[in-house]
Amino acid sequence: MTKKIFWEDPYLTQLDTLMTSVKDTDVTVEQTIFFPFSGGQESDYGTIGDRRVLQARTEGREIVYTLENGHGLKPGDQVSMKIDWERRYKLMRLHFAAEIVLELVYQKLGPIRKVGAHIAQDKARIDFEWDENISKVFPVIQKEALGMIEANQEIISAFSDEEKEKRYWEIRGFAKVPCGGTHLKKTGEIGEIELKRKNPGKGKERIEIYVSGNSISFAPDPAKLQPLLSFPGSNGL
Ligand SMILES: [Zn+2]
Repeated sequence: MTKKIFWEDPYLTQLDTLMTSVKDTDVTVEQTIFFPFSGGQESDYGTIGDRRVLQARTEGREIVYTLENGHGLKPGDQVSMKIDWERRYKLMRLHFAAEIVLELVYQKLGPIRKVGAHIAQDKARIDFEWDENISKVFPVIQKEALGMIEANQEIISAFSDEEKEKRYWEIRGFAKVPCGGTHLKKTGEIGEIELKRKNPGKGKERIEIYVSGNSISFAPDPAKLQPLLSFPGSNGL
């Protein structure tokens, strides 16, 4: 079983590891920082032993990487793994922006049902079953999300069940949500967020989420650290 270093340290961009299995172009490694397509978040881009990774996918709890034909690697080889950090960090910022937006949507619109989510490098989206125009709640969501970003709150990420590799994130006083993604350490890293509404079909509403500007670490402003309403949190993305 590949050890998932991207959970221990989601900011690591290079790692020395060992090849553990090779089946034609599909390989596995002992330890990894390379996040596979999972939970709606797109896969990292990068290399293993300087060979380009064409695909990274989960198989049960294992992660399988597909390399190009004729890669020449064999089990036991020591390799260096590298990821495209610019892409990963953008995915992490959009992922967490989506986490916060989703929780706020549940808080404002009660029984609304999420039916899909996707996080790409340029934008994230969340789809809902909902009969009204969802953009009605955008002003309040944007305001509250901005308040959290400016307050630069700590994001805790940990195992709820290490044996089963179940993980969660938590912002104290806001939400605790199951998710096996790679998460930021502080909300200030998200930067500015922008929401757009799409109406993908009758009874369906889509929120597109964009982040812009630099990821800024704001100095905490005590005036913004007023207690937020406690909310148990949803089932996440
Ligand atoms: Zn997450």
